[in-house]
Amino acid sequence: MGLKVAKFGGSSVADAIQINKIKDIVEGDDAIKYVVVSAPGKRFKDDSKVTDLLYLCKTHIEHKIPYEQIFQVISDRYIAVEANLGVDVDAKGELQEIRRNIEAGASVDYIASRGEYLNAKIIAAALGFDFVDAKEIIKFSDKGKFLEDITNDSIKRVLAEHETAVIPGFYGERLDGSIKTFSRGGSDITGALIARAVGADVYENWTDVSGFLMADPRIVDNPKPIEEISYKELRELSYMGASVLHEDAVYPARIENIPINIRNTNSPQDPGTMIVDRPHANINNVVSGIAGSKDFTVINMFKSSMATERGFIRRVAGIMEDHDIAIEHIPTGVDTISVVIDNEMLAGQLDDIIEEFKNQLKPDSIEVTDDIAMIATVGAGMCTRTGTAAKLFTALAEANINIRMIDQGSSEMNIIVGVDNTKFEDAIRAIYNAFVE
Ligand code: ASP
Repeated sequence: MGLKVAKFGGSSVADAIQINKIKDIVEGDDAIKYVVVSAPGKRFKDDSKVTDLLYLCKTHIEHKIPYEQIFQVISDRYIAVEANLGVDVDAKGELQEIRRNIEAGASVDYIASRGEYLNAKIIAAALGFDFVDAKEIIKFSDKGKFLEDITNDSIKRVLAEHETAVIPGFYGERLDGSIKTFSRGGSDITGALIARAVGADVYENWTDVSGFLMADPRIVDNPKPIEEISYKELRELSYMGASVLHEDAVYPARIENIPINIRNTNSPQDPGTMIVDRPHANINNVVSGIAGSKDFTVINMFKSSMATERGFIRRVAGIMEDHDIAIEHIPTGVDTISVVIDNEMLAGQLDDIIEEFKNQLKPDSIEVTDDIAMIATVGAGMCTRTGTAAKLFTALAEANINIRMIDQGSSEMNIIVGVDNTKFEDAIRAIYNAFVE
């Protein structure tokens, strides 16, 4: 039969209608023993997420602005869900206690975590599962460092006492007893940690999309779904993956080789995407997915005999590190080097950086372009096929798109091209059509 851990994201648990859907899903699958939930998310496009409202309460308090109205909106949502599901977890009493703690100066992490906490209580009652508080099992040091081994042992020990349980995502407890959250979207991590500790056969991650698509549907009409993809390929496609699955959720699943299945609560018949150690079925596909992002800056430097100068790249990297900027890519030629940086990271520091490059590296020339889009074409099947790059470049040439930069990862699993921002969408469509259609 197997053992599954199922995590339901914010939109899957946004109200009683959604929670009834997850009830059908869980009741329809005996293998689901442990359920991890987010705080209620958006019910419609312009709705607010409960977590955002909780953060807003804290900001109001910090600025000494009344927060009661916002807290009331949050309270109303929980009380309505409790009533509509016909369960009784004393949501009113819980909310009063949260309110008292807020008044007494509770930390931002405590306040933010209450979204998951109360939702898990309600959902546990609706499913007839035990409620297990995340603070019993997810552990951080007093300084807030995540404690991997202690957490793994705690989950094993505590959940051994519960045949079925609902656990709130997103937070845990420092050894001193205070609440600590993961970064935003962190319920995915909680689910992965539990899947790892209980040795799940599958970690199901239920969202509002039927897995990953081979390209962004706002750019390509009806892109094909990705049925199976490896953890490594997904990492290379991080431009596209971030909003569906938290990056840090991959590691715990990966070390125990637990497949992550991205599923759609609103369309549970869809198989979704399986993220696995190594793609089996799809190895014949040269390309697994295409993803990109706009607004990168490329700094191109030329210096004769750069290639023989010792420590050149180290000094480039050092200057970027001093400015606390992550380098996205760093393609090099014999006497040239390009540094690719996300514009958002750069935030007003470009002039300083150029000055430092000029003073410390003494390049013959330096040239900056700040409107570059990066596109990653990813596929584990690439390394065993000849002509992949030729096909990609031909497709772009035929679409009249000038390639401003090329980088191929050493994994031979991706080809990254930089094109003008204005050509971003055309380039994605051209690559998609060449490899998929
Ligand atoms: N509720 C938290 C957030 O909105 C965590 C999560 O949903 O994963 O970021």
